[in-house]
Amino acid sequence: MYTFDYQRPATRAEATAAAKGDVRYLAGGQSLIQAMKLRLSSSEKLIDLGGIAELKGIKADAGSVRIGAMTTHAEVARSADVQKTIPALAELASHIGDPMVRNMGTLGGSIANADPAADYPAALVALGATVHTDRRDIPADSFFLGLYETALQPGELITAVSFPKPQRAAYVKFPQPASRFALVGVFVSQAAGGVRVAVTGAKSSVFRAKPIEDALGKSFTAEAAKGVSMPATDINADLHASAAYRAAMISVMASRAVAAALAR
Ligand SMILES: Cc1cc2nc3c(=O)[nH]c(=O)nc-3n(C[C@H](O)[C@H](O)[C@H](O)COP(=O)(O)OP(=O)(O)OC[C@H]3O[C@@H](n4cnc5c(N)ncnc54)[C@H](O)[C@@H]3O)c2cc1C
Repeated sequence: MYTFDYQRPATRAEATAAAKGDVRYLAGGQSLIQAMKLRLSSSEKLIDLGGIAELKGIKADAGSVRIGAMTTHAEVARSADVQKTIPALAELASHIGDPMVRNMGTLGGSIANADPAADYPAALVALGATVHTDRRDIPADSFFLGLYETALQPGELITAVSFPKPQRAAYVKFPQPASRFALVGVFVSQAAGGVRVAVTGAKSSVFRAKPIEDALGKSFTAEAAKGVSMPATDINADLHASAAYRAAMISVMASRAVAAALAR
């Protein structure tokens, strides 16, 4: 690990004021600390967000849930508000990594990191969420740009994410057995605006499976999702799964997600 300065501000205003030059925010540290230990990442200064109460917490009303960036996966999973308003989101959070990861890792850290196999990006895109930062509101569709790449500018701080309540939704992933990251994960959501299907783990970044959305728009059934053959073009291949296998898994995970959404 390279040497760096460390600051732990008590307010959001102090954090953004300190974010000048070669700095990074530190949330749960579950990705960043490992990258720093391996010398894959280095910054002159770390700004620890852990002491900023205004970045934590969950607020729900009849139509949406707003979750603070520093809310941990465990807090989302056990939130009665999230379980009631968007149960699929609470369930997604409950299957991230292991108990230590869920107790340390945060929503803001997960989406800022934009790991190609992370779970939350699928939820944000399928639900049509909005990412709130200290500077602007970013629709999820324009937030994830590529492999570990987002629309965030240097020093821009995620403060919260708002998720509109769908009519029905569910997320199902085929987890990598060691890390629990998604080999393929599919979030299906049905709302007044139509059906949205977002896939994680299969490409360099989350994407919408339009052929499955079209099929589910005509018939919201598990059979309709399973009947779609997704192309293996640009699909990830590694020692865990070939591109053809992952492509096939997209339809299978989507059909299971539709069945789970209909069973709620
Ligand atoms: C063993 C293991 C298993 C895991 N399994 C899964 C899994 O199954 N599914 C899954 O989705 N994830 C998984 N993760 C990832 C984990 O869930 C964390 O969400 C992720 O590591 C980053 O969150 P963090 O809060 O720890 O962020 P950090 O590691 O602290 O930060 C990550 C990045 O986000 C930036 N950042 C953090 N907060 C903000 C903010 N508010 N505004 C702007 N930038 C910010 C940081 O500067 C850094 O670049 C796993 C991690 C580990 C170590």
